Amino acid sequence: MDKNELFRNIPKMDVLLEREDVSKLIEQYGRSLVTGAIREQTELLRELIRTTEDESAVRQATEELAGRAGDSLRRLCSPHVRKVINATGTVLHTNLGRAPISRAQAQRLTDIVTGYSNLEYDLEAGRRGERYAHFEWLLCRLTGAEAAMVVNNNAAAVLLVLSAIARGGEVLVSRGELVEIGGKFRVPDVCEQSGAVLREVGTTNKTHFSDYESALSDGTKAVLKVHTSNYRIVGFTESVDAAELAGLAHEHGVPMIEDLGSGVLVDLEEYGLAHEPTVQESVRAGIDVVCFSGDKLLGGPQAGIIVGRRELIDRMKRHPLTRALRVDKFTVTALEQVLLEYLSKEHVRENVPVLRMISETAASAHERAEKLAAQLREACPRANVGVRPCQSQVGGGSLPLERLESAGVTIEPWAMSVDALEHKMLRFDVPIVPRVTEDSILLDVRTIDSGDFPAVAEMLGEVLA
Ligand SMILES: *Cc1c(COP(=O)(O)O)cnc(C)c1O
Repeated sequence: MDKNELFRNIPKMDVLLEREDVSKLIEQYGRSLVTGAIREQTELLRELIRTTEDESAVRQATEELAGRAGDSLRRLCSPHVRKVINATGTVLHTNLGRAPISRAQAQRLTDIVTGYSNLEYDLEAGRRGERYAHFEWLLCRLTGAEAAMVVNNNAAAVLLVLSAIARGGEVLVSRGELVEIGGKFRVPDVCEQSGAVLREVGTTNKTHFSDYESALSDGTKAVLKVHTSNYRIVGFTESVDAAELAGLAHEHGVPMIEDLGSGVLVDLEEYGLAHEPTVQESVRAGIDVVCFSGDKLLGGPQAGIIVGRRELIDRMKRHPLTRALRVDKFTVTALEQVLLEYLSKEHVRENVPVLRMISETAASAHERAEKLAAQLREACPRANVGVRPCQSQVGGGSLPLERLESAGVTIEPWAMSVDALEHKMLRFDVPIVPRVTEDSILLDVRTIDSGDFPAVAEMLGEVLA
């Protein structure tokens, strides 16, 4: 084959730029990106000509040069973070962004962050204000605490609380509560980072009141209780009630801290779930500082919320770490929106997506699964589509033993393996993350919004029709 001829056939830049399809690309992406992409494709083509003996491949690549430049531009300029459809049934899926917020809450976010706001401006006084002021009163009203503040996430909250209260002294923690949360968050490590010395108390399965009593010393600066959110120790166990422990801490003149993990503000028993300690209960029990996540069962944005006694919260607000861990206007706005929903006990279940999802009954899930299955049967003639009961999880390290009775749509493709179908689903325009069993794909409807059903059916229809 005549390589010189093939080199001569490479279309020239000025010729390509005159083409209609390339003009469209210029309109969309701007001239500099388009010429850059064409140059890149031209270089690849030269490399191909130098290294291959396959003339037809070269001719095809020459033909498609502009198209390939367009494809690479589309890849380059499309966002990497994308909406996915969570069909796993795990409501707080840390890999899938944990808690979704509602459209109404998100709309408010758009309004605030696309312009200026009073983030740190006191409109009544006409001077500098505090970014926590927007929701501090709300958190106090909802939890019964005197004061509140918020940092980037709950791991940051624990670090700040210990740094502000216990640096240079000892913190007592039960051996049954030396938790690893995942993502490298381990209570002993965070303690060390804060400059406090961890004093382990009791044993893995049993820690008595007297264990704390005998561990308290002049060097003790705080007592810490950690909610074992992602595991349970069952059987021959004992731990000390928070109120009792707070009493002991106060007798010795040190604060009692609790890391609650999930941070529930509602009575989950009313939602048909096991009891999960609420923030209000901890405040009422006399805990001086309570911290919890914003994006677990609270259903808000990623945040670490700290509530408690004013004198201690003020100390944290002044701490140098606070500046490094502070939340931005996105978090402040979204968190205020979600907390406002909690003012109405009657409406919060509907308006906070996480609460709505965890409280969906098996009957409702079954009904919705039948709807999705009907749409899928229509769209996907080359698969068996069924409905069967399944169990969902809360996830996010919350309520680890709890299973939610749910319903799933099963898909058994005729002409491809289950793994191949899963692979395709993860590459859809809106990727669907399913559960996979040996012989079928399962879509647990608990975490799928009914509004997404038509899109799910359409995308699956494209590969199973
Ligand atoms: C989840 C959790 C954390 C970490 O919270 P993030 O908001 O994810 O940083 C800390 N402590 C406990 C007990 C938790 O369950």
